[in-house]
Amino acid sequence: MLPEAEINRVLVVTAHPDDVDFGAAGSVALFVDKGVEVTYLLVTDGDAGGNERTLDNSGMAELRRTEQRTAAKAVGVTDVRFLGYSDGQVVPSLELRRDISRVIRQVRPDLVITHHPDRNYQHVAPSHPDHRAVGGCALDAVYPDARNPYAYPELVKDEGLAAWTVREVWLTGGSSPNHWVDITEAMDRKLAALQSHVSQVAHVEGFIDFVRTRFAAWGQEAGLPAGHYAEAFQVVATA
Ligand SMILES: [Zn+2]
Repeated sequence: MLPEAEINRVLVVTAHPDDVDFGAAGSVALFVDKGVEVTYLLVTDGDAGGNERTLDNSGMAELRRTEQRTAAKAVGVTDVRFLGYSDGQVVPSLELRRDISRVIRQVRPDLVITHHPDRNYQHVAPSHPDHRAVGGCALDAVYPDARNPYAYPELVKDEGLAAWTVREVWLTGGSSPNHWVDITEAMDRKLAALQSHVSQVAHVEGFIDFVRTRFAAWGQEAGLPAGHYAEAFQVVATA
């Protein structure tokens, strides 16, 4: 694994508003505490989500962008970017690989955090088709696209974005994690981030207890003392 001291910039690539807050906001808060610069890149606006559904879901995209910016602030992140793809319709494509490669070259992260691209047969929720498409394209952008100056030459020619090699990727939502982060001291901030997604969680009874139970279970799996919380990742070396 990358030594902590060599992680100065982190890029989190997710499909929807709230994905980062479920999967990684505690770890993000701890990175921010150490002075690491963290950028969020969201592929969709989550415009197919929400509780008070009307057939005309106009306004949802803007609401969810605002909620995600508020959630980011709760863990100290201010750089939040959106690609504006349609929620529920993300498929692996060269266009998406290019769009993620562009941001990798702009941000030049040491570490990328994204969705696991494989289907998780133990829990269905992490394997939303948008998640798998985004995770797969983010990994393709990390290797080989962003580091290859001949991939999407227009990024170099028109935008002056030099090739960049991301050294490590952490995947969320997979069935075989191999790295656990003790997020106990950041749990309140993770909960605040999650609760910022008012349109998604305000109506869910027992939401806080659900989140605490779930991440306490990861803490147990990580071998932490009782009362500790953890987030789980599969670490992939990409240098
Ligand atoms: Zn999602």
